[in-house]
Amino acid sequence: MPTFVFFNISAHGHINPTLPIVAELNRRGHKVYYFIGESFAEAVQKAGGIPVVLPGSSRAQNTTPPGDKEIALLPFLMARESPRIVPEIVDKLRSINPDCIIFNTMLLAPRLAARILRLPVIGFRPFHSPRRLQKITETFTDPDVKLLAHAANQALTTVTTSYQLPAITLQEVFSEVPGLTLVFLPKTFQVDAAQFDERFLFVGPSFTVPPPIPWPVAQSDHSAVTRIYISLGTLRNNDPDFYRMCFAAFATPDWSVVMSVGDQIDLRTLEPIPGNFVVKASVPQTALLPHADVFVTHGGLNSTMESLYYGIPLVVLPSIKEQQTTAERVRDLQLGLVLDRNNLTAQALHEAVTTVLQDETIRHSLHHIKDTIRSAGGYLRATDAIIAFQQQALP
Ligand code: UDP
Repeated sequence: MPTFVFFNISAHGHINPTLPIVAELNRRGHKVYYFIGESFAEAVQKAGGIPVVLPGSSRAQNTTPPGDKEIALLPFLMARESPRIVPEIVDKLRSINPDCIIFNTMLLAPRLAARILRLPVIGFRPFHSPRRLQKITETFTDPDVKLLAHAANQALTTVTTSYQLPAITLQEVFSEVPGLTLVFLPKTFQVDAAQFDERFLFVGPSFTVPPPIPWPVAQSDHSAVTRIYISLGTLRNNDPDFYRMCFAAFATPDWSVVMSVGDQIDLRTLEPIPGNFVVKASVPQTALLPHADVFVTHGGLNSTMESLYYGIPLVVLPSIKEQQTTAERVRDLQLGLVLDRNNLTAQALHEAVTTVLQDETIRHSLHHIKDTIRSAGGYLRATDAIIAFQQQALP
């Protein structure tokens, strides 16, 4: 049986869609290794994978999550690190002796390691647009970035030279498109979908439908009629002012609100919490969503897809560019409303939620996208495609 190796970024939004694939590969008898930070090793293990934690690969706890600029700079920083990290990965891969590498296409090191070891690669993208380096360098006029780009290419030369490979620029490495890339959204949701050829497989959200659990009942919930789920995701969720604004917008007993606020906030600092709210650091989102009438979300791709899988309308409050792209798709496909997080009021929030609940066009579009998403194939189609691709790649 072939052995697969995953490489990913240590963040829930990147890891969640891959875990059902790991579990399914494992169920079908494949050995799956997974390069990841320490904090996700247990989740990988639970899914049946074998975590490989490299020293220094974990994001420090409570560090500020990257903004748009930091995300755009990532390729250069990864390149600068590559002379240190790539040999470690190559050595580890030599001992694993895998048949195929499956990697988050934001990452550089697995691209280089696969090139060095001549291994077949499959990409996956829990995000929208391809990260084109050309666009990234064009984004900056900053001379420091030019220096960084130069240092990045020098570091790459160090790596390629030490493995007797021809020199390659960062631009060239990231421009390479694997023969198969799994995209965790349906094609209709992809911006400029027509530019993606058959190498891109749009499998939609990749999650296992969990067993149902009841909607949590708040203290004064008895007469509640409308259920709102609120979450800003797992990274950029430390926003007490926003959560208090939600209290102001929905603190009446005709709403039943579940709010996931992340683990960076001491819940006591949010008190007094209105009686019709249940506030938790984390909730089993995919199990709760089927009960919700509306989802107020930051527009993370997983959250958005999970909501649409159940046909739940969205009120989206994006912060980073990637979420803005998702928000625009939600708006353009008439699946909900988008609000400006920087100019938000409790009244605007209340009005947006009321509007999406009543809008017939949104209801109709949700019905349509729900069918599209459910027929995209999810983790089962992704697993089939991985196995078929690996067989084809056999020498
Ligand atoms: N999630 C969860 N419980 C929570 C909040 C989030 O299970 O209380 C999950 C959610 O189902 C999704 C992921 O965490 O799969 C968040 O990913 P997303 O891409 O939406 O946002 P990010 O956290 O990456 O910003």
